[in-house]
Amino acid sequence: MSGWCIGNLLPLGPRERLFCMIAATASDLDGIGRILGEKAYWDYHHLVGHNLAAAIVTATLLAAFSKARLLTFAVCFWLVHLHLLMDYFGSGPGWGIPYFWPFDQHVYRSPHAWAFYSWQNLSTAGLMFAWTLWIVDRSGRTPLEAIMPALDRQLVDAWNRRGRRRRRPAPERPTARSA
Ligand SMILES: [Zn+2]
Repeated sequence: MSGWCIGNLLPLGPRERLFCMIAATASDLDGIGRILGEKAYWDYHHLVGHNLAAAIVTATLLAAFSKARLLTFAVCFWLVHLHLLMDYFGSGPGWGIPYFWPFDQHVYRSPHAWAFYSWQNLSTAGLMFAWTLWIVDRSGRTPLEAIMPALDRQLVDAWNRRGRRRRRPAPERPTARSA
């Protein structure tokens, strides 16, 4: 959610905002090793995707498929780092970030890490949810805009109808729905 919210602060299109979402979460794809077994999971999660090289690869790939390449690269590179920073503090004590992997095996661990189920993580999640709703209300789009545009429209329409019931009834305007 954080990726999409931050993408909304920039002059980007739906596809680039989707890329922001991908950039903010892509690091955790290294947890996919779980389907290969617990050992693969513990060996590779927080390793392959959680480092500077992964940030460069992720941002380069996403920028290659977007219109505003430089801006997409910059924001995606930054979003991977935001993910690393949040993991550094909020994954629970013991987890660390092997920032220079595979060139340097050192794992950076925060002495101030908090538990995964903590008020810090829960309030961040709550803030992200509120920010998302605010964007739905202000900009008339949801995080589904690029992958499920029809559902995105339905959700925004439902949200607007709900808003209209609460406020003074506004004169009906023709909705711009030129596809
Ligand atoms: Zn992570």
